Amino acid sequence: MKDQYGRTIDYIRISVTDRCNLRCVYCMPEEGVEQVAHEEILTYQEIVRIAGLCARMGISKVKLTGGEPLVRKGLYSLVRDLKRCEGIEQVTLTTNGVELKSQMEELAKAGLDAVNISLDTLDAGMYASVTRRDMLDQALEGLKEALRYPQVKVKINCVPMRNVNEGQWTTLAGLSRDLPVDVRFIEMMPIGLGKEFQGRSQDDILAALRKAYGQETLFYGKCGNGPSIYVKFPGFKGRIGFISAISHKFCGECNRIRLTSEGFLKPCLQYENGTDIKGPLRRGQSDEELAMLIEDAIYRKPRSHHFEQAEGEGFEQRQMSKIGG
Ligand code: SAM
Ligand code: SF4
Repeated sequence: MKDQYGRTIDYIRISVTDRCNLRCVYCMPEEGVEQVAHEEILTYQEIVRIAGLCARMGISKVKLTGGEPLVRKGLYSLVRDLKRCEGIEQVTLTTNGVELKSQMEELAKAGLDAVNISLDTLDAGMYASVTRRDMLDQALEGLKEALRYPQVKVKINCVPMRNVNEGQWTTLAGLSRDLPVDVRFIEMMPIGLGKEFQGRSQDDILAALRKAYGQETLFYGKCGNGPSIYVKFPGFKGRIGFISAISHKFCGECNRIRLTSEGFLKPCLQYENGTDIKGPLRRGQSDEELAMLIEDAIYRKPRSHHFEQAEGEGFEQRQMSKIGG
């Protein structure tokens, strides 16, 4: 499936809930977000139907996200059913890891291919102030449990923020020296509460890592579905990745679309426009009719984001927890 600019779209991020057990300062307000009624959220069956239609168009990779996907009951059953869909080659998950310890075994059995664990700091006090919850130990238990399943690739994601988790990148990157995990630094994007924080650039992080770990080598090779640049430091088991949507804009290679938990298909992270799929699906439209809606939304995917401007016409007003990252 190609969009109007000839980009191949083969990856969908599906948010399964807008609820979360953490309140990361750059993602969710302290009081949480207005909760969407349960019946407004796509059922697992509906998600599988939409993902199956996307798979027929060549969208073979699915990332489950949220809110926090593990707060939705029985997520493993969705993983299992997606893995059974013809054309879906890969099902992965992004989570804060807090509930992973108790769910990892079922997820691995269901065929989960990879898990990304969001971890902005390894300091318990800082974790509690960034996430507004004292749950670092649970997240680390989740990471430990994930590493028991070598068939499931594990990555750690950190959003570096000026004056918030300063200095933590060296410690976090150190995890990939000792463990077979990739650690990735994701540039802060001006979406929702993210607008109130100043990120740290790839160059700043790399400079700090060089001081601690020596000269890196650029890693050539496929490490995931996204636009990360990966490097490797001497003696490290895993790699260090950078996803720098602003300083190293990669819209020309963008391969993804997003489906919110309310069934809204979003072709670009920064723009609020997109297509409601849930309404037509619940009104009984056929697979062919739904497929046309999806194809049309993909075709009209914007050429690029304009994150260099925080505000603009049609810019997304939702919090990131409503979109899924
Ligand atoms: N709760 C899960 C988690 O934390 O991984 C899944 C949803 S969360 C919205 C997905 C990712 O988006 C997390 O890694 C989070 O750090 C990241 N994120 C949230 N707001 C962001 C922002 N403004 N800029 C960049 N990344 C952001
Ligand atoms: Fe929850 Fe993930 Fe947002 Fe943190 S980043 S508040 S864990 S959805």
